[in-house]
Amino acid sequence: MLPILEARKPQIYQKGAEPFAMVCQRPSLAGSVSQRACVFCGSRVVLYPIADAVHLVHGPIGCAAYTWDIRGSLSSGPELHRLSFSTDLEERDVIYGGEQKLYRALIELIDQYHPNAAFVYSTCIVGIIGDDVAAVCRRVETERGIPVLAIQSEGFRGTKKDGYRAACDGLAKLVGTGSTEGIGAASINILGDFNLAGETWMIRDYYRRMGVEVVATITGDGRIEAIRRAHGARLNVVQCAGSMTHLAQTMQERYGIPFIRVSYFGIEDTAKALYDVADFFGDAEIRRRSQELVRQEVDAVMPELRRYRQALEGRRAAVYTGGAFKAFSLVRSLRTLGMKTVMVGSQTGNREDYELLRELCDEGTILVDDTNPLELSRFVQEKEVDLFIGGVKERPIAYKLGVGFCDHNHERKVALAGFQGMVNFAREVYGSVMSPVWKLVPRRRRAAS
Ligand code: SF4
Repeated sequence: MLPILEARKPQIYQKGAEPFAMVCQRPSLAGSVSQRACVFCGSRVVLYPIADAVHLVHGPIGCAAYTWDIRGSLSSGPELHRLSFSTDLEERDVIYGGEQKLYRALIELIDQYHPNAAFVYSTCIVGIIGDDVAAVCRRVETERGIPVLAIQSEGFRGTKKDGYRAACDGLAKLVGTGSTEGIGAASINILGDFNLAGETWMIRDYYRRMGVEVVATITGDGRIEAIRRAHGARLNVVQCAGSMTHLAQTMQERYGIPFIRVSYFGIEDTAKALYDVADFFGDAEIRRRSQELVRQEVDAVMPELRRYRQALEGRRAAVYTGGAFKAFSLVRSLRTLGMKTVMVGSQTGNREDYELLRELCDEGTILVDDTNPLELSRFVQEKEVDLFIGGVKERPIAYKLGVGFCDHNHERKVALAGFQGMVNFAREVYGSVMSPVWKLVPRRRRAAS
């Protein structure tokens, strides 16, 4: 078993060790082959679900291919977001500059697709050659009369979290430019759900049943016009806190809109999210409706959840997510299924997040920040994990080790949010952990050191 790099050790903690001095929020260690995505990818995943905009990647074709249809987010209307456009910069452009190519590409795309806005993502090479992307965007915006937003997301500028921030800065330029006429008193924006498999629709429907108006969904099933009028809502309800808190804070400063952090993963967290929103409005009727909704939904899902729990009781899970907020919900959801989380980590968690995770987890659980495949493989084997929950980059690690896997990120096609989402999650976990395939592909055990 390969040893852990000395410089990585401060970012790993095992519950029980004192003091708790976990290091996080720092650039990835060179050579450690981090699981983290680049700044550009961070921006791209946040803005991608806005369905009536052109998304143009200014850079070599590889950057566009890397994020092609990255979330597969569903739209109830236009699907322009699912096309991945690129300026396809080549050697000649690197030498002479890519601004003319960018200008021509924008004009062609806007004239052909008539989008309501355009986002232009800068990639590493654009930062190196120094194209003035903002100037090209301003010119096209004036000539074509739609917002054209330059997203400063050169891959090397920092971590994926800096990409989230660049995306939020772009969104903040749109918010406040539309009319707020007709928006009611009990109104919210849903921030940080990306509608991978219809979750935004499920959450929207919960609020409809509670009598709460949703002004904008940012960015799942997102529309430019709704985002422009989002400053008319009374509350921002933030799910993916890692990616959307910056926008919520900006809206609080500019428009005085408060925000709350919620999660819609798992029964406990979904119920709490709905109650928190009801409490914010302090309206007895909204509170009554939310209680009624939670009661109906919990009654409907509990019998099936109990059956899965019987089969999964005592199984062990490893969790690795982008933002840490989702990890809290997953630890709780696994507990609902009788499972124990023995390793948990994230790409972008902060000190506060890890402290909360430490409180939430059992003695001996490994906490890890910005990890890499070798560490993950080692911990999965050491802790004799039955299930790995992660994203596209963690899937092959699990399968190669003969361990069940549940995708809780971009590639999934099953809604895992809300009450029904908890049943879907339990079904996936059960299907993977109990699959007969593991009799044919035996678990790879840790080699004696
Ligand atoms: S922006 Fe840079 S790091 Fe990101 S995909 Fe493109 S080349 Fe790679």
